[in-house]
Amino acid sequence: MLQLGHWQFESVINGTIRLDGGAMFGVVPKVLWSNSQNIDLKNRILLATRTLIARHIPSQRIVLVDTGTGSKWSDDDAERYGIESNPEAIDQALAAMGTDADAVTDVIATHLHFDHCGGMSEWDKAPGGQLSVRFANARHWVHREHFQHACAPTLRDRASFLPVDFKWLDEDPRAEFVEGDQPTSDIPDLTFELSHGHTPYQLLPVFELGNGSELFFVGDMAPTGAHILPAWVMAYDLFPLKSVDERVALANRCKERGTIVAFPHDVKRGIVRLDVSGKKPRIGEVLCP
Ligand SMILES: [Zn+2]
Repeated sequence: MLQLGHWQFESVINGTIRLDGGAMFGVVPKVLWSNSQNIDLKNRILLATRTLIARHIPSQRIVLVDTGTGSKWSDDDAERYGIESNPEAIDQALAAMGTDADAVTDVIATHLHFDHCGGMSEWDKAPGGQLSVRFANARHWVHREHFQHACAPTLRDRASFLPVDFKWLDEDPRAEFVEGDQPTSDIPDLTFELSHGHTPYQLLPVFELGNGSELFFVGDMAPTGAHILPAWVMAYDLFPLKSVDERVALANRCKERGTIVAFPHDVKRGIVRLDVSGKKPRIGEVLCP
C-alpha cells in the first residue's frame, strides 16, 4: 500500500485479458513492441485489468477506479478474449486495508468498455437473470456524454460495449452522471480530467497529494507503460491524433508537476513515476507493482 498526502493507494489486478498485439500498438511494427510483451500463439498479448483503490483518510471515502471484466462471462466469450477474471482480488485488497466492499463510497468508471466496468455488477443468481450491484452502497461516477456514446456506439467500437454492464445505471439512484467539459465531484482532494482520443469523454481522476503533487489514473489514454510513447497509439482509439496530443500533454504535465501515474492494464507496474528527463518519456521508479 502506498500512502501519499491524505490518500492511501493500492493497485489491484482483478484479472487478465488477452488482446490482439497489433490492435494494441496500431501502426507500430511488431518488431518494435514484441520484445517487451507476453505474446500467445494467436498473437494476443497479456494485459492486466486493474482497479485502483484509493482511501481518503480524513473523510474515510473509499474510491475504486475501474472494476475490470467482472464475473458475468460465459466460457466461450471468456475464451475469445483470454479472460481470467479474479474479482475477489478487490475484496482481498480491501480486507488488507481493514475494510470491505460495503464500505466503498465511490466507484469511478473511467469509461464503459467491458474490461473497465464489467465488475460493477454480477449475476444475482443465474446468468441472464437479475443483476446485483457489487459495491452496493457506492455512488457510481461516469460522464453522461460517454454513457450516451456507450448506449449508441459506432460500428467500429460497439464490440467493446456490453449493455448488461452499464444500462442499469440509467435508472439507479446510485449513478452519478457528471456533465460538461470541466466536471467536478464532492470527493475531497480529487478532480477530473477528460480524455477523448481513445473514446469520447473518458473520465480520469486526479488525486491531489498536497504541495502541488498529484497521482493521475490515466485510463486507456495510456493503458500500459509501453503506451507512454506518444506515437504508440492503439488501433482501438477512435481519434488517434488526439491520443498523441494527450500523451504529449501527459509527459509535459509530469515534467512540470512530477505527476505520479497509475495504469489500468500494465501487467507489472500499477503506479509509477515517469522519467521525463530525456527526449522520450520512460518508466522511472515503480511505486506499486
Ligand atoms: Zn478502453
